Amino acid sequence: MDRIRWRIALPYIVLILALLAGLGIFLSNTFQQAIIQQLQDRLTNDARSIARATLPHWGQPALLEADAREWADLMGARVTIIDPQGTVLAESDDTPTRMDNHLDRPEVAAALAGQTSHSVRYSNTVGYDMLYTALPLQEADGPILGVVRVALPLDEVGRDLARLQSALFGAALLASLVAIVLALLIANNTSRPLEQLTSAANRMARGETANEPLPSSIREVSLLVQAFNSMAVRIRQQMQTQETESARLAAVLNNMADGVLIVDAAGLVRLINPAAANLLECAGDCAGHPLAEVCRPYQPLELWRAALASQTSHSQAFAWRKLALLASAIPLSRSLPGHTLLLLQDETKRQQVESMRRDFISNVSHELRTPLAALKVMVETLQDGALGDPTAAARFLGNMEGEIDSLNLMVAELLELSKVESGQVPLERLWVAPEALLAPARDRLRLQAERAGLDLRMELPAEAELPQVYADPNRVQQVLTNLLHNAIKFTPAGGSVVCGAQTQNGEVCFYVRDTGIGIDPQNQQRVFERFFKEDKARSGGGTGLGLSICRHIVAMHGGRIWLQSALGQGSTFWFTLA
Ligand code: ADP
Repeated sequence: MDRIRWRIALPYIVLILALLAGLGIFLSNTFQQAIIQQLQDRLTNDARSIARATLPHWGQPALLEADAREWADLMGARVTIIDPQGTVLAESDDTPTRMDNHLDRPEVAAALAGQTSHSVRYSNTVGYDMLYTALPLQEADGPILGVVRVALPLDEVGRDLARLQSALFGAALLASLVAIVLALLIANNTSRPLEQLTSAANRMARGETANEPLPSSIREVSLLVQAFNSMAVRIRQQMQTQETESARLAAVLNNMADGVLIVDAAGLVRLINPAAANLLECAGDCAGHPLAEVCRPYQPLELWRAALASQTSHSQAFAWRKLALLASAIPLSRSLPGHTLLLLQDETKRQQVESMRRDFISNVSHELRTPLAALKVMVETLQDGALGDPTAAARFLGNMEGEIDSLNLMVAELLELSKVESGQVPLERLWVAPEALLAPARDRLRLQAERAGLDLRMELPAEAELPQVYADPNRVQQVLTNLLHNAIKFTPAGGSVVCGAQTQNGEVCFYVRDTGIGIDPQNQQRVFERFFKEDKARSGGGTGLGLSICRHIVAMHGGRIWLQSALGQGSTFWFTLA
């Protein structure tokens, strides 16, 4: 059985046993005294009767002896008659002459002094405890003639008392057993809810939840249980709220693009989100490690030190492994004293976009400047008198029209590129045969190829029909037209231009091949950039935007575009549509 039950039951048990033992001792003493008192009264009466009967026989030892024996028989007691000197004159249980002087016996001495007295003593004569009662033998108001003593053995009384005591002991034992069982039952009833409470508290301490409410029958414990149950409900609610909060926080931290670290006053990283770990290229769980170990660039470390010392925010932009980072250290003096929040923002993309925007504006202005400058010169020349020369004027106007056309083309292509890039024109995809995409593009450019003295053909695999592709036909034809247009533009007369499609690794690859001037290997990746023109002299008045538009359209389809080319031998542009 558990300690708590014993702790409740044991005091009860000890108390009950002590009470029963005390009661037993008290009762047995009281009974003993009552019996002795009763015996003393009896013996006093007996002694009086003997005194009355023996008084007439005083001075006649034989008669006194006979009286002593007769009364002794009658009363079942020992009778002794003693003279004032202490000499035994008559004795019921012994021969008087053999007996010693009785003057020293306390009851005899008291009786000779005129009192009725009692004494309990061990008797040498009979060999056990006796109750003696002695009273003076005298005529009314006469001198004390002697002493009559009546004695009863106490072994009988002892036996009675022993019987009483054993009965009392038996009753006490029975009562104790019943009391112990009751105490244990009470302890059990009291301790059960406490034990349930303890184990529920232990379960909660281990972080387990969803406990069923605890039952209890004892009022005080039931109040405790009620308080505990409502506390458990509150804790559970708080835990759930906390779990939801931390799940939300973790979701935000884990999905944030910015790196977040919390560093304590000792410089140990207390929290690091995946973005920060990724930016700082630290593998494994970095929490608990020193910031200096986790963060290899020194700038965040210095910012942390400065923020910790001044308790104000600091930030700094710096470059780290091809990345442009912005680090900020914010002291968390209110919410987490001594801790600092370190924010790492990847500015690379934003800076790239920024620089692309700057490049784009400078490219556009540059591209616009050339035709505008040419137009200005021609207008000025006309103003300066060329108007008067009809032939020159007509030539200038023709040139001006050409410049305006190229400006128009550039504006149109810029608009197209911006539309494609911004995704304003959604794709209208459908399943279509590659041939249905290639043929219209070829037909559209057939005349232009003929004029340039080129052989324009379409190629399709003879052995098997190509699978259909899921594409926006207008957009794909725009790509093909652009590529064919370039091929015609950059292929000298007598050459050939081929457009076609074939399957490679299970996907349909479109291509436009020419036998033209080819592209310098170092520029091959750059031809898809906006405004890139390999050689202005040979670009044939292009804007440098056509291939960027193609790349965007292909990317919108989820495909790839690439090229193979050798200078002087020709180029092949490939693209797929996922
Ligand atoms: P453009 O309007 O100048 O043709 P593009 O973006 O279509 O602009 O092409 C960019 C540059 O790529 C061209 O100026 C040219 O230098 C090069 N290029 C494109 N296609 C070919 C080709 N088939 N053969 C050789 N060079 C080409």
